[in-house]
Order: sequence, then structure tokens, then C-alpha cells
Amino acid sequence: MTYDPDNIFAKILRDEIPSIRVYEDEATLVFMDIMPRAPGHVLVIPKTPARNILDASPEQMATVMATVQKLGHAVTKAFDADGVTIQQFNEAAGGQEVFHLHFHVLPRHLDVGLNPPRVMGDMDELQSNAAKIQAALG
Ligand code: 5GP
Repeated sequence: MTYDPDNIFAKILRDEIPSIRVYEDEATLVFMDIMPRAPGHVLVIPKTPARNILDASPEQMATVMATVQKLGHAVTKAFDADGVTIQQFNEAAGGQEVFHLHFHVLPRHLDVGLNPPRVMGDMDELQSNAAKIQAALG
């Protein structure tokens, strides 16, 4: 399996399609998931190409995980969450739909289930949730 430079997240990285960016550093980018399974659901990706954990380098994994942890703290603070769910899928058989390495970070509350999949988020709500996370990042 080879990396397709025209996957959706590669286009987001190149600003060829819009996204609601929350955070970035030299190696990673964080943006709102357009079909959020929970308020504050973000995606963390490396800026360099990798399909998933099966072809990512240890350096890509290390930098992405550092950002995943940072966002875990930020969404917990922003949404007064009781916990955080991290999801990550590899290849179609593993549940992956977009083939650029990404980690889902979802703030969770006790006894509150996830939203149904594949439901587009409200853009104003996504913007407002992004602002809350950015405020928590300081
Ligand atoms: P996965 O590959 O982890 O199964 O799912 C890909 C994720 O990317 C889904 O949660 C989906 O909502 C999200 N997604 C798909 N297309 C876009 C897009 O164009 N923009 C954003 N921000 N998220 C997307």
C-alpha cells in the first residue's frame, strides 16, 4: 500500500480544501473532525506523509503522540470532560477511511454516548468548539 498525496488530509495540509485548524507545530496539525462523534472531536496528523501506523516512522509516531497528549489535556479542560477517547484505524480492514495517519481525540462525559457516525457537524458549533480548545491550549 502506498501513500496517495491526493488524500483529503493531504489536501487539508496544503490548504487546498478548507478545515477548521486548532493547533499546529513544526511536525503536526490538529483540526476539527467535520463529522464529530462528540463536541470537541479533533484529528491529529503528521505534516509528513504516512498512510497509518504500518508505514509511519518512529519519529512520526513520537511527534504525533506528543500532540495527541497535548490535545487530550486541552479538550479535557475545554469541555470539562470526565475522560478522553483516542481512536486510530489502520487500512480499510481496520476501519480506516482516510489514508493519512490520524488520531481521533474525543472528550467524553460519564454516561454520554458518542454521536452517530457520518453526520456533518454544524460549522458555527465546530468553530466555537475550536475556539474553546484554543483557549484551553493557552
Ligand atoms: P477514519 O479514517 O479514522 O475511519 O475516519 C476519517 C475521519 O475523517 C472521520 O471521522 C471523518 O469524519 C473525518 N473526515 C472525513 N473527511 C473530512 C474532511 O473533509 N474534513 C474533516 N475535517 N474531517 C473529515
